[in-house]
Amino acid sequence: MEPLISSADLLIDARTNFEERFLLGRMALHAGKPLIFAAMNGMEGMVVPLRPGHGPCLECVFPEGDPAWDPLGFPVLGAVSGVIGSMAAIVAIRILSGYGESPLSQMTVFDGMDMSMRSFKISADRRCGACGYRQDFKEKDSYP
Ligand SMILES: [Zn+2]
Repeated sequence: MEPLISSADLLIDARTNFEERFLLGRMALHAGKPLIFAAMNGMEGMVVPLRPGHGPCLECVFPEGDPAWDPLGFPVLGAVSGVIGSMAAIVAIRILSGYGESPLSQMTVFDGMDMSMRSFKISADRRCGACGYRQDFKEKDSYP
């Protein structure tokens, strides 16, 4: 998988379990590639753009994953997947083009039950076993 990652400018993670997400997250850290975490469950979904050395990594945000996740063990509504996939694509375009303010260190959650969208800042964990030793903890994230 490493040749695929080294040839990519950006990675989008939409796997169904944290074992694979953590593997991709560690590979993104090692390669220094931006990673967009995209996930959904029922009527909710979230998008979290991450870049090594510029804020949290996947394991800072979800240090223990979520053992409740089981491949195909949660409800999937295609329309919610479409919303989350489109949001991840927008973030990818913004990161790759440098358009607008950096979307890094921000988690955006979509709730299809009340059609709300909330965004909030997330922080790196200096004790993170995956990235803690790589962080320079810059206050301002930017691309490229
Ligand atoms: Zn981390």
